Amino acid sequence: MSVTVTLPARPEPYLGSGPLPADFYGYEELLSDPEREKVERFREFFRTEAAPIVDDYWARAEFPFQLVKGFAELGLAEWADPDSKQPPPSSLLTGVMAMEMAHADPSLSTFFGVHTGLAMGSILTCGSEEQKRRWLPAMSRLEKIGAFALTEPHGGSDVAGGMETTARRDGDEWVLDGAKRWIGNATFADRVVVWARDVETHHVLGFVVEKGTPGFHPTKIENKIALRIVQNADIVLDNCRVPEANRLQQANSFKDTAKILRATRSGVAWQSVGVMFGAYEIALQYAKERQQFGRPIGSFQLVQDLLVKMLGNATASCGMMVRLAQLQDAGVYRDEQSSLAKAYCTVRMRETVGWARELLAANGIVLDYNIGRFIADSEALYSYEGTREMQTLIVARAVTGGLSAFVR
Ligand SMILES: Cc1cc2nc3c(=O)[nH]c(=O)nc-3n(C[C@H](O)[C@H](O)[C@H](O)COP(=O)(O)OP(=O)(O)OC[C@H]3O[C@@H](n4cnc5c(N)ncnc54)[C@H](O)[C@@H]3O)c2cc1C
Repeated sequence: MSVTVTLPARPEPYLGSGPLPADFYGYEELLSDPEREKVERFREFFRTEAAPIVDDYWARAEFPFQLVKGFAELGLAEWADPDSKQPPPSSLLTGVMAMEMAHADPSLSTFFGVHTGLAMGSILTCGSEEQKRRWLPAMSRLEKIGAFALTEPHGGSDVAGGMETTARRDGDEWVLDGAKRWIGNATFADRVVVWARDVETHHVLGFVVEKGTPGFHPTKIENKIALRIVQNADIVLDNCRVPEANRLQQANSFKDTAKILRATRSGVAWQSVGVMFGAYEIALQYAKERQQFGRPIGSFQLVQDLLVKMLGNATASCGMMVRLAQLQDAGVYRDEQSSLAKAYCTVRMRETVGWARELLAANGIVLDYNIGRFIADSEALYSYEGTREMQTLIVARAVTGGLSAFVR
């Protein structure tokens, strides 16, 4: 005898054309038509090529290399090629793309953010013109992939003051020694931006270490429960020699590293908006389909309350990000504004995915119903690029006129 079990359909984040169901205030309408076309091309790519495989790769903690070509064809980073005629994208489009990617899958969004925002961003912000010409063209086409190695086994929040990795000048070369931890993309990256303290001046400097450089040893971090598609590595630097030509010429102290983090932290805040949008859309579909007590659960007031709270969190966070993008384009946004966005939006994200999971109840803990991946991945977004506590200290120091609660 065969028994058929009918289960609710798998809910999906919306990947069609037009506004997202979660975009309640129509923020996407602020994009120009060509910008909206880029967003739609991404959704199409994700729907046809990535969505069918992400759960499987997530479960196996492997990276789907076959998707890199599709990312490249979207052409989102091509403007960074010094010979490109394209203007840089608006901060709103950059943010919305980070949001859209995380709305589809937080791991793939992280892969792209590390490559473009952190690795290419370091070269754009701190490289000389010659270095930009040498490294950015292939990276802008994703023919060469980048990583960004700042965090250390003993230096996370305190990496600026407590950095142990050293750089010693030896003629035309630098010798790097130390260890890095949690470095996304680093198991396969072609170019890793490594931050190290100059033994002479004690300033933090940045170096581009090419794949295969002797003394550079990345090892994959196993058993992660979040962003399992992202390949994070422990890196040992053992007498690793890089030419002076690979030292980022405009990176003179940690203040320069912080310029990169300012932009990427707001990128993480955008990602968390994407996660909230995705979680809300999944929960909404499920609420309409799942029947209990002879009715869709979406007809119960307590379930409606969860939906509306999720929508409120996502809408408020997105509004904050849209304004931050305007400040960014005006060239007036400050570290503390980016930190507030990262802290606020990721807290709202954690709350929101929790409510979505509550709404799906048992089906909320299996990958098959999509929300499980968002819940697990949110934990990494919450902590990386500076924890909530670190962002809080940055904001509080600014609003109190410089009363710093950092101990260093
Ligand atoms: C999936 C993932 C990907 C990552 N990718 C990268 C990458 O590509 N490159 C990279 O360089 N790094 C990366 N990181 C590292 C990430 O940025 C750090 O994990 C993060 O900055 C926090 O550092 P930590 O984990 O060492 O925590 P710790 O610094 O050890 O902090 C532990 C706890 O103590 C709290 N704490 C510390 N100091 C204070 C204080 N003064 N006051 C109050 N509370 C405090 C923290 O807020 C936190 O709650 C990644 C991390 C993850 C999880």
